[in-house]
Amino acid sequence: MYLENLDLNFIQPCTTDSNRIRIRGSFSRNIEDLFPYLNTYLKTGIYNQKAGTLTFNYGPKIIIIYKEEVAVSKLLNETDAFETLDYIKNLINDCADKREEIIPNEEMRKLPSPIDVYEFLPKINCGKCGVATCLAFSTKLINGTFKPNRCVHLGERGNEKNKEEVEKIVLMIGYDI
Ligand code: SF4
Repeated sequence: MYLENLDLNFIQPCTTDSNRIRIRGSFSRNIEDLFPYLNTYLKTGIYNQKAGTLTFNYGPKIIIIYKEEVAVSKLLNETDAFETLDYIKNLINDCADKREEIIPNEEMRKLPSPIDVYEFLPKINCGKCGVATCLAFSTKLINGTFKPNRCVHLGERGNEKNKEEVEKIVLMIGYDI
């Protein structure tokens, strides 16, 4: 078997939704050689070769695969965590088993742009995040300089859905939140 074990390392509440949890798990081997195959196999994931991450959605969950570990956010509970780790392990092993039939792909699918983030921001250009405009803030998020919680207004009541969307984009690129 390509990947023997995927062990749960830690469980923490999600930073945005305390009813959900996020986890990290470690692989029993380095899976970097499989990334170009997983990139083809997953079809909708984002492979960021420079960051060494492969990110994709599994229902509402966001999974970030690194070469030696995996991070999953927006899980319901511990049962969901263990089931999701099983799913990831099986996915990796299925992909490894079918490697001969898969055409490896090193290309990165289109990354979200600052405009994609801007759509979910308050658009009031208050400057409280340290840059003058919400669009400048979007750019900082996309290049990994800022984290979503730097926008004080995004954390206000009524903005929960927008905050979730912004965080989803940031996670999809492969950054932590
Ligand atoms: S704090 Fe939020 S609302 Fe204010 S400029 Fe920055 S991104 Fe825009």
